[in-house]
Amino acid sequence: MSVTKHLNHIRSKIPAGVRLVAVSKTKPVSDIMEAYQAGQRVFGENKTQDLIAKQPELPEDIEWHFIGHLQTNKVKYLTPFVGMIESVDSLKLLKEINKQAAKNERVVNCLLQFHIASEQTKFGLDLEDASLILESEEYTNMKHIRLCGVMGMATFTDDEEILQMEFSMLRDIFNSLKNKYFSEDESFREISMGMSGDFLLAIEQGSTNVRVGTAIFGERNY
Ligand SMILES: *Cc1c(COP(=O)(O)O)cnc(C)c1O
Repeated sequence: MSVTKHLNHIRSKIPAGVRLVAVSKTKPVSDIMEAYQAGQRVFGENKTQDLIAKQPELPEDIEWHFIGHLQTNKVKYLTPFVGMIESVDSLKLLKEINKQAAKNERVVNCLLQFHIASEQTKFGLDLEDASLILESEEYTNMKHIRLCGVMGMATFTDDEEILQMEFSMLRDIFNSLKNKYFSEDESFREISMGMSGDFLLAIEQGSTNVRVGTAIFGERNY
């Protein structure tokens, strides 16, 4: 299995302007290094313990995206170096990121994670939750958060109609937030959606940030 070959194949399908996050969860540092040597700089992990174990062993110019469910008591381990937290799903979490980022004298890039799948288990906000956060005095006063857009995970299915519907729902959510709260803010521009099985469909629906693991690194053994 060649990481480089698979990475180049995926890249050839992604248009300029769409960021590829190589999801390296469960994979060893050696696999990440191979992708790095092939020019990949943005990687995604979904567990804080794994990310903080791997990060010091790898080059400093890697942009790490955190894509998993994040507990508030783990935030402090990420804020010193994380490039983007894609999975913000509460005001409480945003407050903690802001607080820890302040200690690190950083502004941390974040995405709001939305619930778009039909499955009950996936985390995420709905539009009303997001409005409550964005209109709160607490959010308005945060100096160490940069909200860059939205993220979502579609239903685990190969039914293209369902996927299309969920991706377009996230794009509509992005557009309504953009118009209502971020029309003057150029940083708010990301729609993170699409994984190994559906990233082409997600790009058709407006994805700016695809998160691809298996198609680059192979199947995961948990
Ligand atoms: C694991 C994971 C991915 C990548 O999934 P693949 O199907 O392996 O490409 C993308 N996004 C999130 C949030 C993940 O946890």
